[in-house]
Amino acid sequence: MAELLLKNINKQYDKSIKGNAVTDFNLHVEDGEFIVLVGPSGCGKSTMLRMIAGLEEITDGEFFLDDKLMNDVPPANRGISMVFQNYALYPHMTVYDNIAFGLKIRKTNKKEIDRRVREAAEILGLQDLLKRKPSALSGGQKQRVALGRAIVREAKLFLMDEPLSNLDAKLRFQMRAEIAKLHQRLKTTSIYVTHDQTEAMTMATRIVIMKDGVIQQVGTPKTVYDYP
Ligand code: ADP
Ligand code: ADP
Repeated sequence: MAELLLKNINKQYDKSIKGNAVTDFNLHVEDGEFIVLVGPSGCGKSTMLRMIAGLEEITDGEFFLDDKLMNDVPPANRGISMVFQNYALYPHMTVYDNIAFGLKIRKTNKKEIDRRVREAAEILGLQDLLKRKPSALSGGQKQRVALGRAIVREAKLFLMDEPLSNLDAKLRFQMRAEIAKLHQRLKTTSIYVTHDQTEAMTMATRIVIMKDGVIQQVGTPKTVYDYP
């Protein structure tokens, strides 16, 4: 369960340079929403996501997660998990250990780890690949492992930064449907960043269009793109 409030968020990377990467970003996200942040390269999407994850400092404004002010909470204590474009898998570990890693470092007990890893593997169709190393996986399979690693943590909030942009068109199409299905099943509040309008249309409960660090429009796929 997670509800977000982003209040007048601003990001300036370099105080000596005029202009913000993000300007006066305001958004209220309700529990269970799948928000897609869309816009051209350089418009501030990734910066916004990294501020929510705690990987980048908020220059000005307030970020509340379930009514708790998060600005100064370290990334690991936010209850957030994030999936990156380049998968960020550990090459020397098996699929099983990659998925289990975030739980192991939190000292979750072995039986519980095993239950959660197998459940995630089942949801993502990775049951037969658990003993493989990432080098023996296709791009789509690697991205599924990255998703598995994020979902076993049972985080409150799921952040995805262009997770499909390294995949070919056919796999992108397939993974889009899988991520949408995953969201229908888990209902984890999600924020998904992309420059691809098709991804926004087909996956979002609400779309936020950004340009030059500023929100241009917020709406459903229907109101923004007239998508049914
Ligand atoms: P997007 O994700 O939409 O492509 P970014 O959030 O990566 O956009 O970038 C927004 C703006 O901030 C761009 O002008 C970019 O050059 C700038 N920027 C991004 N990261 C940094 C950084 N680490 N230092 C300075 N400027 C940055
Ligand atoms: P953890 O984030 O606790 O290390 P994971 O195994 O899920 O657990 O993450 C693997 C890598 O992905 C981490 O080394 C970290 O760099 C990055 N990562 C994942 N989620 C986050 C997050 N919310 N904040 C910062 N980094 C993250």
